[in-house]
Amino acid sequence: MPIYEYACDNCRKIYSFLVRSPSEHRTPKCPKCGKRGMKRMLSSFGISHTDEDRMEKLSDPSMFSGIDENDPKSLARFMRKMGKELGEEMPEEFDEMCRRLEAGESPEDIEQSMGEAPYASDDSGKLYEG
Ligand SMILES: [Zn+2]
Repeated sequence: MPIYEYACDNCRKIYSFLVRSPSEHRTPKCPKCGKRGMKRMLSSFGISHTDEDRMEKLSDPSMFSGIDENDPKSLARFMRKMGKELGEEMPEEFDEMCRRLEAGESPEDIEQSMGEAPYASDDSGKLYEG
């Protein structure tokens, strides 16, 4: 059962609603002030519909087939495939990581030498500190 978030214009609050079926398009009314016409939020992760579709594709089990945890090359293949599926320019670090995996380095070594989470960024593309 999916949970959707709706925002109330009136009290500027966001409420989560369970939606019984995807075909249910009824807009809930604000539990607090009773105002109708709440606005559906994209999602708590701030991803758009298109991204949702993409994420669905990424969660397809066939995406993960052929990955051998002990084979860095298969990981690199997967990462490149994922990057392509996302259709976005991947950060240099991503590319470097793929190259190093393809060269046979273990993900642990790469992670250690590259530092923590180089991809954590907000919508503006600004890197979070720490
Ligand atoms: Zn309200």
